[in-house]
Amino acid sequence: MSQPSSRRQFLQQVGGGIAVSLAALSANNKHAKPGYNTGGKKLGVALVGLGSYAKNQLAVALEKTSNCYLAAIVTGTPSKADEWSKKYNLDKKNIYNYQNFDSIADNKNVDIVYVVLPNSMHKEFVLRAAKAGKHVMCEKPMATSVQDAIDMVSACRAAGVQLGIGYRMHFEPFTKEIIRMCRQKEIGDVKFIQTNFGFTIGDPTQWRLKKDMAGGGPLMDVGIYCVQAARYVTGEEPVSVTAQYGPVTEPSVFKDVEQSVSWQLEFPGGATVNGFSSYRSNIEQLYVSATKGWLQLSPAYSYGPIKGSSSKGPLQLPVVHHQTVMLEGICDALLTSGTMPAHCNGEEGLRDMKILMAIYEAAASGKKLPLV
Ligand code: NDP
Repeated sequence: MSQPSSRRQFLQQVGGGIAVSLAALSANNKHAKPGYNTGGKKLGVALVGLGSYAKNQLAVALEKTSNCYLAAIVTGTPSKADEWSKKYNLDKKNIYNYQNFDSIADNKNVDIVYVVLPNSMHKEFVLRAAKAGKHVMCEKPMATSVQDAIDMVSACRAAGVQLGIGYRMHFEPFTKEIIRMCRQKEIGDVKFIQTNFGFTIGDPTQWRLKKDMAGGGPLMDVGIYCVQAARYVTGEEPVSVTAQYGPVTEPSVFKDVEQSVSWQLEFPGGATVNGFSSYRSNIEQLYVSATKGWLQLSPAYSYGPIKGSSSKGPLQLPVVHHQTVMLEGICDALLTSGTMPAHCNGEEGLRDMKILMAIYEAAASGKKLPLV
């Protein structure tokens, strides 16, 4: 995508869904947190955990966004603190470690704490950020258990701060278009969805392969995109689940988490969903079959470029940097309404956590389980 020359042009390029006019930014500000100045103010974001996603995607996005910027970092690795402070011109007072993190409460430059740590560490840092009085963004999956997710939603509510989950697809133009087409029934009633996301995982010692840190295997890491897609395509909540673990062909690697899992969800409107996630198959697809046609995205969930087609013809939409449009959209919402967009808030993350855990339960028991 070429660099947009203005904020308005940028919003037009991302498909209009977050195209709030500058006038509306000010007019709708009655719920904004006191102290926010929507007249061009940029929200300060503190990244917690400077791993691959923070470095290669979120920090890159924060250099492109018009309404937020990298204000602080939290890291346990002193060499990263040096490297990032030079690269992003960060003063020492904006650099924290995991021990002194709580003093971020006193940092007026930080509006949002963005937790980009291994999954099992999300809860602790979301709770500490909420206690510090900061809005919180948390990466997916939001937690490693349903109870932790409930505690995170409750803590943020009690502290009066917003909690968001890094569900970037909701801001991506192809995804937004298929949601629109399905809501408006342009291809009729959705009857069947096939959704797959898998990749070949590398380093066998990494935290993603340890259950206590990851909460599970590919289902938690990438299958969550498929669960999300099933919900945003149907616009409904599933009523039942069945699931099956795939074979373990490399027991030395997959001794702690599943190698692959398939699952089926039934929706109240009559749609059924077949999902698959794997750490040993390179696959990424969303296929929607409906009474009057079909839709397909493939790639559907990675950083893209996302490609789409339908029974009505190819989908031609702008290719965007997902993390940039996500952060821009979230900060627009915080600046205008003071609330996180509903499709990526803590409650939305909690709904997914309940389904993910039910998939594991169904795979272990071999039974069809109701979802409430
Ligand atoms: P990495 O392993 O690359 O980075 C995690 C970082 O967390 C480390 O670099 C380290 O940062 C910090 N950390 C603190 N304690 C530990 C520990 N005990 N073990 C490992 N790391 C530790 O992970 P990713 O960046 O790939 O993933 C982080 C989160 O982001 C996960 O929840 C993941 O699911 C999510 N994610 C989301 C994506 C999306 O598209 N939405 C894509 C990729 C990941 P430091 O050295 O600074 O302390």
